[in-house]
Amino acid sequence: MPEKKIAIIGGGAAGLMAADMLSRHGEVHIYEKGKALGRKFLVAGNGGFNLTNSAEGEDLCRKYTPMEFLQPALEAFNSQDTRTWLAGLGIPTFVGSSGRVFPEKGIKPITVLQQIKDRLLQNGVQFHFQHEFVGFNAEQKPILKFQESECFPEADHYLFALGGASWPVTGSTGNWLEAFRLSGIKTLAFQSSNCGINVNWPDDFRNKFGGAPLKNLQVSAGNFSLKGEALITDYGLEGNVIYPLVPKIRELLQAGKEAFLTLDFKPQNTVGQLLEKVRGKQIQTKNYEQVFKLSKAQLTLLKAFSSKEDYVFPENFVRQIKQLTIPVSSLRPIEEAISTAGGISLEEVNPDFTLKAFPHISVVGEMLDWDAPTGGFLLQGCFSTAYLAAQAILVKLR
Ligand SMILES: Cc1cc2nc3c(=O)[nH]c(=O)nc-3n(C[C@H](O)[C@H](O)[C@H](O)COP(=O)(O)OP(=O)(O)OC[C@H]3O[C@@H](n4cnc5c(N)ncnc54)[C@H](O)[C@@H]3O)c2cc1C
Repeated sequence: MPEKKIAIIGGGAAGLMAADMLSRHGEVHIYEKGKALGRKFLVAGNGGFNLTNSAEGEDLCRKYTPMEFLQPALEAFNSQDTRTWLAGLGIPTFVGSSGRVFPEKGIKPITVLQQIKDRLLQNGVQFHFQHEFVGFNAEQKPILKFQESECFPEADHYLFALGGASWPVTGSTGNWLEAFRLSGIKTLAFQSSNCGINVNWPDDFRNKFGGAPLKNLQVSAGNFSLKGEALITDYGLEGNVIYPLVPKIRELLQAGKEAFLTLDFKPQNTVGQLLEKVRGKQIQTKNYEQVFKLSKAQLTLLKAFSSKEDYVFPENFVRQIKQLTIPVSSLRPIEEAISTAGGISLEEVNPDFTLKAFPHISVVGEMLDWDAPTGGFLLQGCFSTAYLAAQAILVKLR
């Protein structure tokens, strides 16, 4: 298919994956509004760089909302396929804690990105930087702004991979939403996902314990609960145990309801086992730390969010240890979130990621309205959607 030309708009994780697949068979151009590719990919590499997660089959698919929409893409290109793809680029990976997949020790995020770029250059992909998508013309072809003038790249197919709206400094501002909306495509406002939550801490608690970890914690929101670690911050809580609860908290807050987290500081003990520690003994509050093996932060939190009766009577206190209720005031802003929900409504998208209204356009990656927790699932979702869309484009243009 050498004569076929494909324009990819957006040079992040999803755009790069699509470019690799498509450039093996056609002429591929990437149009990126920034001066560099993969800036959010590099930011992702600053912390733990989870390139995917070793979860497979149903276990992998269940991490995504809505699962039914993402499942065919995840089955077409699963987490093992991502590892094989990376290995083919000279990036060996290993499985770390909770199934997270990292590049082998010593391999920096910039090296992973460079290997991908090198592959694309070898395949003849042409990069066009500082080309910003600003809207569609009457033929529903993209209008790009370059140095104060507009250009209209001709292509047999257009693939958009414009990302969500978190960390806008990376270029993913989400300001493309309006252009799609004006073309009659249903879009949903972006919302924070995988983000911290705001809690109205008492001032002295914030000053003393901001930055302290809460380890070995079970947290619940509604009927959803999980174990892990959270970090106390100036504004509230964040961390791996908090992020997956965000969709539930968002749902409650949006419905105008109060949102609470229930913290269990001793998930390995039953209430009965903890009561054994106090039964028939004269336990005073000053002994709680030692008797129940609580950290100072846990103890202060228990005191701050319990009534006097629930704190001073050991039997009541035990129940508080197992289910301390903390009100959530709001979610952290989009700018700080690891990912966003919202974007193009999935109602507008065919199973092969073309737009129902405009079959010459595909849309992939985080710009679509799906959600997943951290741990490698976000990049995997981007790679899988880009892969399936690319295969469908190749079939169509063949
Ligand atoms: C702090 C942080 C840590 C993360 N850690 C991980 C992790 O460890 N594991 C994981 O799986 N995921 C992680 N993620 C999430 C992951 O990085 C994203 O889900 C992924 O990068 C999204 O890929 P994408 O290609 O859809 O969009 P993006 O990577 O956001 O790329 C979109 C591209 O489109 C360009 N663009 C936007 N608008 C226009 C326009 N109008 N015209 C032209 N170009 C445009 C942008 O400049 C950008 O280059 C992390 C994210 C953050 C912020």
